[in-house]
Amino acid sequence: MPAQSKKIGDGSYFSVPLFFFFIFLLCGCQQPQLHRQTQVLMGTFVEVISPDQRAADIVFSEIRRIEGMLSKYRPESEVSRLNKNGWVKASPEMFFILEKSRGFWELSGGAFDITVGPLMDLWGFTDKKFRQPSDAEIQKTLELIGTNKIILNKTDYVVKFMLSGMKIDLGAIAKGFAVDCAIKKLKDAGIASCLINAGGQIYGLGEKSGKPWKVAIKSPRGKGFAGSLELKDQAVSTSGDYEQYFEKDKRRFSHIMNPATGYPEDSRIISATVVAGDGLTADALATSIVVMGKDKGLALGKKFPGAEIKLIEK
Ligand code: ADP
Ligand code: MG
Repeated sequence: MPAQSKKIGDGSYFSVPLFFFFIFLLCGCQQPQLHRQTQVLMGTFVEVISPDQRAADIVFSEIRRIEGMLSKYRPESEVSRLNKNGWVKASPEMFFILEKSRGFWELSGGAFDITVGPLMDLWGFTDKKFRQPSDAEIQKTLELIGTNKIILNKTDYVVKFMLSGMKIDLGAIAKGFAVDCAIKKLKDAGIASCLINAGGQIYGLGEKSGKPWKVAIKSPRGKGFAGSLELKDQAVSTSGDYEQYFEKDKRRFSHIMNPATGYPEDSRIISATVVAGDGLTADALATSIVVMGKDKGLALGKKFPGAEIKLIEK
């Protein structure tokens, strides 16, 4: 399901996803022994399917906790306090995700960069008032971009920005991390079989009735399926230009930024689907690959043993 277009004042169009689900469960959901519940968290639908009826509450409360810590839309979150004050004393989990983000920034040659916050604001993705900024505005904003401008002090977990006006946005990695945390809670509770789908960020824990969980990837353009996957203790994530974007003068501007240019990425990749052993890796890798393009992106994927990548190109 691509997107719904609405007309705004100046004749341009913006689009919002009609469904966040682009991956559908192929079978089994209707089986009576499986419990299925959905809640809106982290700005998307989180769906939990498990034979254990405790699973949904465990997953929802853990994802809600991570959202409270990492969402830039929650004024009291650690991310919001860092963005507002230019520093924060981070929790171990926040520090972990920042270190991971810095690792992906290094490995991706700067393509994956959580300091895109000011660019997300400038292009109107934060408040959904989309606009095309001037080149001068973009150049000025680019001065604030760069994960190397975040100081991570491991001795006291204090995190500081080097420049005022910097902002982080964990939209490309937080959902994957949240799903990993939820899976850990399920395991702690002795639950061995569960599928979590957080707006296309999916993890299949264990098996469904003795077989891997099966999911189908919906085509990013038009109808039908682009393929299917089997997951057993694996995560899958898809990034692309069709989830959140707006169109102006027949050009499509997606919510994935190229931190080198300050413009939404316009690579030849419509979507990158990554299977990995954990959600954080799948999430961050998928976004990195969209920005890096096919050759560099696939080369990056090879550095993660067991990661499988499927690209859909224009
Ligand atoms: P989704 O939001 O559909 O899960 P992604 O995982 O690809 O998609 O994350 C896109 C989000 O990541 C954007 O909405 C923004 O918050 C953030 N972001 C945008 N560009 C980058 C980038 N180059 N590196 C890291 N994060 C980014
Ligand atoms: Mg991502």
